[in-house]
Amino acid sequence: MTQVHEMQATDDEVLADLHAWLAENWDPDLTVAEWWERLGLAGWAAPSLPTTAYGRGVARSVAVKIAQEIAAFGALAAPNGLGLLLAAPTIADHGTQEQIDTLVRDIVTGQQAWCQLFSEPGAGSDLAGLTTRAELDGEEWIVNGQKVWTSLGQSADMGMLIARTDPDAPKHQGISYFGIDMHQDGVEVRPLTEMTGHAMFNESFLTDARVPDAWLIGERNKGWAVANSTLGHERAGLGSGGGSAGNAMVVPGTIAGNLGRRAGDFVAPKPKKDATSAAKDEASTPKRRSGFGEILIGLAKDNGSSTDAVIRQDLVKLYILGELGRMNAERVKAARANGADIPGMPNISKLSMSNIVRLQRDLGLAIVGPYGMLHGYDEAANAVLNEVTGNPFLPAVTMTALYAQAPPIYGGTDQIQRNILGERVLGLPKEPGSTNDQPFSSLPKNG
Ligand SMILES: Cc1cc2nc3c(=O)[nH]c(=O)nc-3n(C[C@H](O)[C@H](O)[C@H](O)COP(=O)(O)OP(=O)(O)OC[C@H]3O[C@@H](n4cnc5c(N)ncnc54)[C@H](O)[C@@H]3O)c2cc1C
Repeated sequence: MTQVHEMQATDDEVLADLHAWLAENWDPDLTVAEWWERLGLAGWAAPSLPTTAYGRGVARSVAVKIAQEIAAFGALAAPNGLGLLLAAPTIADHGTQEQIDTLVRDIVTGQQAWCQLFSEPGAGSDLAGLTTRAELDGEEWIVNGQKVWTSLGQSADMGMLIARTDPDAPKHQGISYFGIDMHQDGVEVRPLTEMTGHAMFNESFLTDARVPDAWLIGERNKGWAVANSTLGHERAGLGSGGGSAGNAMVVPGTIAGNLGRRAGDFVAPKPKKDATSAAKDEASTPKRRSGFGEILIGLAKDNGSSTDAVIRQDLVKLYILGELGRMNAERVKAARANGADIPGMPNISKLSMSNIVRLQRDLGLAIVGPYGMLHGYDEAANAVLNEVTGNPFLPAVTMTALYAQAPPIYGGTDQIQRNILGERVLGLPKEPGSTNDQPFSSLPKNG
């Protein structure tokens, strides 16, 4: 019990520090770049990073509270995206101090956006089978190959690249990890449109692309461990409930065009009202629904399906899955406070998230019935549908239903998470026919 009280006091102290810092530093008239520079250099943009890497060394659950506090204060959130989520913690773990001082600095201050150049047309689950090559030429690496499913590659300044640097070593041992500049002739990014109507991910073609040797992260040919660090951060981040909490998600980096804009234009102004008029407004406007669970409950009450036994049970199940995720995050926090860890928890978090999105999809469609067939593929189509149906919450249901296929795949599919749990946590025998000890160059390849 004593420990719980001590941890609580520490969290509260951190949040009190943040509050005082925001009161002194938040200014809506700063540009986005100026604000992110202040936030990032003070350690509030990525507080779970170590103090030597522009962070404050706090637990991920505290970082989520910090993001919520920034939003509640009415200040612009930290630069979001794969740079902050994946590249920064990976470079903090494996990079040199010089790489941290340049690459991580530009991430936490939002100057540069990153993408993840891991998957290839022939290497997804079997990522170590990748064939993109990097060959050293003096002080530079020359890279050739193709990547796919590169999320947000179209707005990335830099990429986390894994490439084969020793084809004669066994497949996990001849891979290196680099930071690559996406602004060069040798990098071509082509968008892929998804069934949601958006084009979040891309194919990336690398043709004699160049990477300075100074941007090799970790040791040469030891990139598999570095890539696993990135994947670990990805799975843990996906399961932790996110961290941007509320205010608009502003895309960082030089391509999105947000850096020179006024920071205050991205946050909703705080209402300045006396108590009586606020209460009157509250009574006369329809209640806002925050969070997908609340949206579904509202929709079910509106159309009467909340009396359906199966729908009621599934609403409760969705709530319980969310609570289990929250409690597991608390268990990890408590274990870490005692210097321990819970093996396999990132994989369990990821599997749990897949179950949640699948239930959100099926339950949402069950509640709205035939309206689930009406999806607006862009803002204009959604506006028309909202007008015709009189229901502004339908797009959240159809978008969730279409996007629900993605989380069970990205960051390693559900089947791969189960393989990892089986082999590494339960100690079950590995799959038969492993080629892990043979030189990559001698392995049979497709076409
Ligand atoms: C929305 C989204 C965003 C993504 N963003 C990125 C990104 O930014 N950067 C990036 O590099 N990649 C990204 N990916 C790619 C993602 O990591 C891969 O799609 C994923 O690892 C699966 O690889 P694959 O598509 O090649 O499928 P495959 O590996 O071909 O798998 C096909 C099926 O076979 C199953 N399978 C394969 N091997 C096994 C096995 N050993 N045991 C049991 N079942 C198995 C899989 O589970 C799956 O069901 C993204 C994917 C999605 C959907």
